[in-house]
Amino acid sequence: MPALRMDELRGEMRYDEPLSRHTSWRVGGPARRFYQPADSADLVAFLGLLEPDEPLLWLGLGSNLLVRDGGFAGTVIATQGRLNGLTLEEPGIIRAEAGVACAKVARFAARAGLCGAEFLAGIPGTLGGALAMNAGAFGGEVWQRVLKVVTVDRSGRLTERVVQDFSIGYRQVTGPEGEWFIAGLLALEAGDAKAAQVEIRRLLERRAATQPTRQPSCGSVFRNPPGDHAGRLIEAAGLKGYAIGGARVSDKHANFIVNTGQASAADIEALISHVQDEVERASGERLIPEVHRVGEAV
Ligand SMILES: Cc1cc2nc3c(=O)[nH]c(=O)nc-3n(C[C@H](O)[C@H](O)[C@H](O)COP(=O)(O)OP(=O)(O)OC[C@H]3O[C@@H](n4cnc5c(N)ncnc54)[C@H](O)[C@@H]3O)c2cc1C
Repeated sequence: MPALRMDELRGEMRYDEPLSRHTSWRVGGPARRFYQPADSADLVAFLGLLEPDEPLLWLGLGSNLLVRDGGFAGTVIATQGRLNGLTLEEPGIIRAEAGVACAKVARFAARAGLCGAEFLAGIPGTLGGALAMNAGAFGGEVWQRVLKVVTVDRSGRLTERVVQDFSIGYRQVTGPEGEWFIAGLLALEAGDAKAAQVEIRRLLERRAATQPTRQPSCGSVFRNPPGDHAGRLIEAAGLKGYAIGGARVSDKHANFIVNTGQASAADIEALISHVQDEVERASGERLIPEVHRVGEAV
């Protein structure tokens, strides 16, 4: 693989970077190359220099990613804190770049006296990850707020896209092949700054009361089947507290798998399969993982 002309770039490249440092489960083998762009212009330049067949993995806060123990044999593009522009474009419209944490978007909107983004406060990912997943909570989903997005393809070409260019579902987004999110414009309603801040606190307290927020996890592992809750089905199958290696079905919320300290990605993946099999045996429902799985097993 020819070396990239790093002298033309302003970002930071690491080699064999352990992805366990960058995922909320704290598991995952190394990335062959790990690039943190200086900003979106630098990212565009970086993409323009990449070999056309280099495998790419986009990474926000790694809060919905299971990276296997053998790592990722390609280039990871880490946006968190790098694509970090956050501005009030015009009254009621916020522009956030892909690497901005959802919590920051929620607080920024609340301070500006805008409501409708409060649900983002407890989602521990970036806006880019939220757009890729159609992240949502407490009845809100990020794409309900999207006016436009800016995407980039692997040659570095930027495109402004509207919602109609995407097929949006529950924790699922399909869009033009080979494009990733650089930024999003969110439309919010005029409201009261104080009330929005109070609502954020209320939602965070509710989350802390019902979710194992202090243990490494990826949030809900499985999508809720129509008209039901994955957590209820897992609990009904008697799996609360069930463990494989260091991976354990949370006692607090059965749709969470927590890393009790020494879990490997293989432990987590084995537990995901076990839960799917047992729930299917008990209820006839085959749960579909929400979490994205990438990389090589060892
Ligand atoms: C404690 C906890 C609670 C959670 N609660 C919720 C919740 O209430 N609701 C909810 O929806 N989710 C929840 N999650 C899951 C997760 O936070 C969300 O899915 C979040 O949107 C993922 O963002 P991220 O930046 O961490 O993405 P990552 O995990 O880094 O990536 C997720 C996927 O998005 C892709 N991706 C990342 N950035 C981009 C980009 N710029 N362009 C294109 N693709 C990209 C990645 O390649 C990957 O496929 C929770 C997770 C945890 C740990």
